[in-house]
Amino acid sequence: MKLFDTHAHCDDLRIQNEFEGGTEGYILYQLDNGVANIVNIGTNLDNSRVSIDLAKRITQVYATCGIHPYDIRFYNDVDTALASLKAMLAEEKVVALGEIGLDYHYEDSDFQKQMVFFVKQMELAGELNIPVVIHDRDAHGDTMDVIRRFPEVTGIFHSFSGSAEMANELIERGWYISFSGPITYKNAKKPKEACKICPLDRILIETDAPYLPPTPYRGQMNHPHYVVRTAEEIAGIHGISVDEVAEITYENAKKVYRIRD
Ligand SMILES: [Zn+2]
Repeated sequence: MKLFDTHAHCDDLRIQNEFEGGTEGYILYQLDNGVANIVNIGTNLDNSRVSIDLAKRITQVYATCGIHPYDIRFYNDVDTALASLKAMLAEEKVVALGEIGLDYHYEDSDFQKQMVFFVKQMELAGELNIPVVIHDRDAHGDTMDVIRRFPEVTGIFHSFSGSAEMANELIERGWYISFSGPITYKNAKKPKEACKICPLDRILIETDAPYLPPTPYRGQMNHPHYVVRTAEEIAGIHGISVDEVAEITYENAKKVYRIRD
């Protein structure tokens, strides 16, 4: 069974501190333990650079580069930041612009600045014709407004937390929906319902490691090889085998990230 973890943060400090072999050793351990490929996700210019370097060193790893709504605090001028980002996106093994989006969970965040960075990065994705990875936390309405403004830009809604209705609109607009650990939680009605209406050829699996551990690892650190738990959950929801989920989501990941053999 080949499993594709479409979204992980293997360079996260918690992993670096806890795993003796550092990030690279950690990734090799994951690849030896049941995950075939990993996309390492950038959230700012520094860790986007780290992701590119990891992808260049390890065949099975790919990178994304982008500025996450939390990390906009590092940048004063959006155009200067995006000029650096644009150069990175041209590098080998960079498969998407992300993660980008809106996060209204913490009230002390500058929501206006988030919107400027999100919209400008969507514009850049359109200009470069590259898929995007969307982070949308407690901001479904505004995120969808931006999505509708850029019909030519598509990609992945990561760790989907919206309604079935929202998933349906995204599917119709050509997007892929990615599910993570929370879909395994007993009380997670919304992602289970959304997953149920998603056609199999638009579903992706991810861990968002070290965040969002699936059942039964809640409260612990998450790892890419736990992605099988999400595959098992989706298999149950769609009434197919885990092997089928692995195979379909593997092909979907290659398609959305435009990875050729
Ligand atoms: Zn993430």
